[in-house]
Amino acid sequence: MRAILMGPPGAGKGTQAELLTQHFTIPHISTGDMFRAAIKEQTPLGIKAKQYLDSGALVPDEVTIGIVAERLAQADCSNGFLLDGFPRTAAQADALAKILSDLNIGLDGVVNIELDDKNLLERLTGRRVCKQCTATYHMVFNPPLEPGKCDKCGGELYQRSDDTLETAKNRLRVYNEQTEPLIAYYNEQGLLRRIQGDQEIEKVFHDILDVLE
Ligand code: ADP
Ligand code: ADP
Ligand code: ZN
Repeated sequence: MRAILMGPPGAGKGTQAELLTQHFTIPHISTGDMFRAAIKEQTPLGIKAKQYLDSGALVPDEVTIGIVAERLAQADCSNGFLLDGFPRTAAQADALAKILSDLNIGLDGVVNIELDDKNLLERLTGRRVCKQCTATYHMVFNPPLEPGKCDKCGGELYQRSDDTLETAKNRLRVYNEQTEPLIAYYNEQGLLRRIQGDQEIEKVFHDILDVLE
């Protein structure tokens, strides 16, 4: 399975990616997770990316495209992968098309999870993430069994610094301006699969499996 998960910030991409990558046994390629790991490690990439994540702006295309190209060339991607949060701009989509055609592979589908802004802001501001394994929870909609602690690995949960109301609103603006146009791009190629995000996590998961299989 070679697929892209698209949708605005908070739509449920990361949550569904966890379920899908387990189901298909494929790597989960999340540019957001890659940037956050680099920031934590204070690598050159992390130092470059931090200011963009802090404000909710996009990391420049040349940086982002470079890390994805490198990741897709790794051996574990040869049997499939799930891209989560990439591409987010027209230039990234063009670069991805080039990378895939050079590797002589195509996409099985582009899943777009749809949700309105009011729900998105509720999801983003209530989100909590595991420091250790990046599993995602929600204070109200998907709480951990024990407050502050990851069900899967026991790691400590934290709130992302860009999940404040102000930065979340900026991320939605950035999404509408730069990423939303990609829906038409993939629709024209016959790859787009639309999913209603305003349903239980399990129901969204089954809807996605239905359109991919
Ligand atoms: P969300 O899951 O809420 O949409 P992500 O974890 O995907 O957030 O992204 C967090 C931040 O990482 C973005 O606001 C942006 O700064 C950066 N980022 C992630 N993916 C990309 C990308 N494809 N291009 C540019 N910046 C990105
Ligand atoms: P994205 O990666 O698209 O930004 P996440 O998967 O991190 O989105 O989900 C955002 C927040 O919404 C998280 O707190 C998550 O637990 C919660 N969430 C995800 N899917 C659902 C759903 N179907 N119903 C209710 N809450 C959800
Ligand atoms: Zn964990």
